Amino acid sequence: MHSSNRSSLAAVLLAALLAAALPLGLSAEQTPAEHGSSGSAIRPAPADPAIAAALKEISAGRVRATIEKLVSFNNRSTLSSMEPDLAPGTGINAAADWIAAEFGRISSDCGNCLEVKRDEFIEPGSDAANSRVRKDTKLVNVYAVLKGTDPAQSARRVLVTGHYDSRNSDNFNTRDAAPGANDDASGVAVSIECARVLSKLKFPSTIVFVAVAGEEQGLFGSRHLAKLAKSEGWQLEAVLNNDIVGGDTTPGQQADEDKTAVRVFSEGVPSPETAAGSPDAVKMIHTLGSDSDAPSRELARAIEDVGDTYFRAPGIHTKRAAAAIATKEPFRPVLIFRADRYLRGGDHTSFNLEGFPAVRFTEWRENFDHQHQNVRVENGVQYGDLLQYVDFGYVANVARLNAATLATLASAPGVPRNVHILTAALDNNTELTWEPAAGAPAGTTYEVVWRATELPMWTTFVSAGPATTIKLPVSKDNVVFGVRSVDAAGHRSIAVLPLPARK
Ligand SMILES: [Zn+2]
Repeated sequence: MHSSNRSSLAAVLLAALLAAALPLGLSAEQTPAEHGSSGSAIRPAPADPAIAAALKEISAGRVRATIEKLVSFNNRSTLSSMEPDLAPGTGINAAADWIAAEFGRISSDCGNCLEVKRDEFIEPGSDAANSRVRKDTKLVNVYAVLKGTDPAQSARRVLVTGHYDSRNSDNFNTRDAAPGANDDASGVAVSIECARVLSKLKFPSTIVFVAVAGEEQGLFGSRHLAKLAKSEGWQLEAVLNNDIVGGDTTPGQQADEDKTAVRVFSEGVPSPETAAGSPDAVKMIHTLGSDSDAPSRELARAIEDVGDTYFRAPGIHTKRAAAAIATKEPFRPVLIFRADRYLRGGDHTSFNLEGFPAVRFTEWRENFDHQHQNVRVENGVQYGDLLQYVDFGYVANVARLNAATLATLASAPGVPRNVHILTAALDNNTELTWEPAAGAPAGTTYEVVWRATELPMWTTFVSAGPATTIKLPVSKDNVVFGVRSVDAAGHRSIAVLPLPARK
């Protein structure tokens, strides 16, 4: 369901709930006094003028320049890192050096506000039949850290990533053209554009801008970085993976390609390989009916919330007046309640496997003639991941949505801690408790959000103010709750699902 139906559906639902709650002979005016505390429809947060101005700085021209430059390296196969005789300015090593230099240029424009780093390692080769790395191979992830300015919150991090390696039809081909304009120079361009415009602002918590290698051989670069993040104790609250966000421009395909939509894939249940997805944890998920509330899913909902503030979503103009501040172009995230596409994987999975919330952005409709293909014409069809099929204005909108999400989450307080729903009493009310977000600034308040169990998105909220407990005349059996932090300016954190507790 798109959000266009949501508020009207919520109103109908609320009316139905209200009607059902009324005993015979009672009018709406005679309902109990908790009327107000049974919640209000969720509205978009106010736009932050500094964030809106940054979104305007994101440029389709700069996106194009970045993708053109990455394509110019001819073949960015990760395996090319071990080729000693490539022409200068070609291959993945040259691409890594350019990305590091680009982050360096951005940093020198902001008084060296970025720390540019290389996460370099050797992926061991394997002669297993299905191995896509046959000999020991150097991999380099390049990333830039914009450190948060609030000592109480700078350990918190949000991260945006794309993969800068590419491939053609043959995984082992390091010589022939593998332009990778869409897959995934487009995602790297998102990362670099976010760094360029957000480095001019200050945020209380930290933002990390990333380009990884080794995706095409099995997510090796992101796996190494996610493990590094875990071992270094990064408090990663959100990972935004952009992979194939070019918006296809192939003639004849335009009727099917929706340039107003980007898909956001997220897992609804934590991966079974993680503690949060262990059999015991899944038993709890089964009991609670929280099979659409993994932290990555709550992140996806937060992205839709950000979209509601900064974009003019098609068909939802009335409550989106703020959107005109950011962009006049209609654009929206469409949440896909699925970890990834069929038969495909992506770098967000590496972070999910280390227990971090992570989602994947991908264009509305992929064109497989322009992915993992040798550049050639066959029966009149042009194959290859060529620059000419990228819609730079579309990539710029994806970058705006990413930047707005990173900026909002890096401005917002952290999530409330130890969020619990008290289940000691058998009754038709709800009591929730939580602890303040770590390092939360003065003026932080908390919102309880909820939705009927059969609905995908939060519909209703009440503010608890600065309190860390609330009683609501809403049956905990009938809805799913979340609690989020809000700062004085209205930046919202990701919502946290409460876990049951007996007082
Ligand atoms: Zn890719």
